[in-house]
Amino acid sequence: MKILVCNLGLLPMSTFLPYLYARLRTYIEVDYDKHIDLKWQTPIFRCYDNNVSAEEILKDIDVKNLDMLLTSNYTWNINDQLELSRYVKKVNPNCFIIAGGPEIEYKNLKVFERLDCVDAICYAEIESVMPEFLYNYQNNIDYDINGIILKTNPLKPRTPVLKIECKDIIGKPYTHLKHEFIKWAKEIKSKGSQSRVAVSFETNRGCPYGCTFCDWGSATASKIKKFQRDYVMEEIDSVMELKPDLVLIVDANFGIFEDDLDYIYKLIECKKKNNYVTTVAFSSAKNKKTRATQAHVALHKEDMLKVSHMGIQHTDEEVTKIMDRDNIKAIESIKEINDGLKAGVPLVPALIVGSPGDSIDKWKTAITDLMCMSFHDDVRLHDFQLLPNSPAMDTEYMEKYKIGYIDKTYHEMPNSKRKASPAKFVAETFSYTKEDFVEMQTWSYFYLGFHTLGIFKWAALYAHHTLNIHYKDFYDRVANLKTVKDIISHVRIQMHRFVLEDAVNKFIDYDNRLWQPDAFVYYKSIENLETLYEEFCVEFKDDFGDVLNDIIAFNKFIQINFEHEHEITIGHNFKDYFKDVLQTPAFEKSKLIPKKERTVYVNDGYLGLQKEYLIPKVNNINQYKENIYNKILKQAPNYRHRLYYYHGAIKQ
Ligand code: SF4
Repeated sequence: MKILVCNLGLLPMSTFLPYLYARLRTYIEVDYDKHIDLKWQTPIFRCYDNNVSAEEILKDIDVKNLDMLLTSNYTWNINDQLELSRYVKKVNPNCFIIAGGPEIEYKNLKVFERLDCVDAICYAEIESVMPEFLYNYQNNIDYDINGIILKTNPLKPRTPVLKIECKDIIGKPYTHLKHEFIKWAKEIKSKGSQSRVAVSFETNRGCPYGCTFCDWGSATASKIKKFQRDYVMEEIDSVMELKPDLVLIVDANFGIFEDDLDYIYKLIECKKKNNYVTTVAFSSAKNKKTRATQAHVALHKEDMLKVSHMGIQHTDEEVTKIMDRDNIKAIESIKEINDGLKAGVPLVPALIVGSPGDSIDKWKTAITDLMCMSFHDDVRLHDFQLLPNSPAMDTEYMEKYKIGYIDKTYHEMPNSKRKASPAKFVAETFSYTKEDFVEMQTWSYFYLGFHTLGIFKWAALYAHHTLNIHYKDFYDRVANLKTVKDIISHVRIQMHRFVLEDAVNKFIDYDNRLWQPDAFVYYKSIENLETLYEEFCVEFKDDFGDVLNDIIAFNKFIQINFEHEHEITIGHNFKDYFKDVLQTPAFEKSKLIPKKERTVYVNDGYLGLQKEYLIPKVNNINQYKENIYNKILKQAPNYRHRLYYYHGAIKQ
């Protein structure tokens, strides 16, 4: 039986090797106790341009004689995979097509209306269903089994399927299919240094929590099942032989078990042995962060960590309760990450805007809470996307919390090569209206532009730590400055178009470019920097006293802008002060006071932490603006640590 596994990739330059194919094949060949005669076709896993046809993608596959097609579906690939499935069905009506993955709305009894060319869906863990299905199918035994819904029997109850015991799995995909993986990794790398190899890797499955916005492959609210330690160790050797650019550990709570730290040390050992720098990424354990922090620090020291995400989601108790996340003590566990902050690990906390229970005020508080937790570099403010099989999509939940949504696209960056995906975003609930949501969105970009990217960050830090002005009060006053209001009014218009009108994304059209709203706020601010700071000085004169002029001169100097001064001398020494402030543990305040002494600050032109950028001084302002735009403002969130300020200026 000829079988093809298809999982079209998301990113053109970063290709995930076909783990799902390898996991299923290895399980059938090593662990499954019955014989199935399968001829595995080379899986489809790359990302293709929109104009590449299904015929072209499948050109090396003998479609006419294909017996079985399995597709794994995500928001970014489902439409393309349906196109591809339709093509297969047209060429070969006898090919049996099964669709699985998180984007398949398996609870929906009309699921086949959208999946017109699909013969069956699989809604359970692949190893626990597909081997038996394939065996029965090949041997003409009834294959209408649990975990599978046939198009001919769409109303069948979705009975839960017992999950596999990971500890009993022997077959190791990266080891078992090593030669295929080596071949694919070499092929990808042969396309140039921009072409990266990424690897999915798991050490356990399941998650004890049940956050309403999440559907991690229907694996949530379940006991965690671990793979054997020896299994994982041997797989790390095989994975690292591929010299991957990224190892993505897909566990929901990495760092929850003692072994996890040993896995990190093993990855580091392999990196040294193979002499190739691999980046490692994982989602940290939610309540106990000490081990995950140790892992971050160890990876950071070896240059193997680009970014570490921390899903906080919200800081309001009612909101997290409605999200069914109140058993995750995000705020308490923040205290356990201080070692990471001190070591300079690029931690990126994430919040979700617009959960049921949220409001304009709660949202503003949540963002400024991040500042109190000492997150002053990049942060992620996500929309609440309704994922097909998440608890939030249940009719009862939607009705109870009066959830209304908008149909848009998920597209993070203008002109990104990453494919835009259709997405449903929550835009109103019992606790806020769509008009409120416009305001919440506007505040998000206000904070990102003025604090995260830095227009008033240094003044805000001083106000909070030394003048006891809370970030929320500080930014409420900043929001009332005339020029700030002007800038933000453009954002508000676009958010209105996005939430209440027909704009499919949030990008702002300005100066012949499309801008992410936060980059737009930043750019407009540096176009009006003098006026902004003059208005600021009038508003905050009494609070800052004789530090005011120096703090603004410092803020302006350290921040990337159109002047690019090489050196300034001012009357306060902020170097030790801001170093201390940036490392101050969450919820604490620096006890230092900036010394009153003439201090020289030098700008060496370097920006960025994960990647370093040099902004050369050029005489032509347009060329200089292009440099700022292309090197800095175009960078995606997650990779913006130290990107907007000349960190060399606070070195001694
Ligand atoms: S968001 Fe994370 S912690 Fe919450 S259910 Fe999903 S995987 Fe588990």
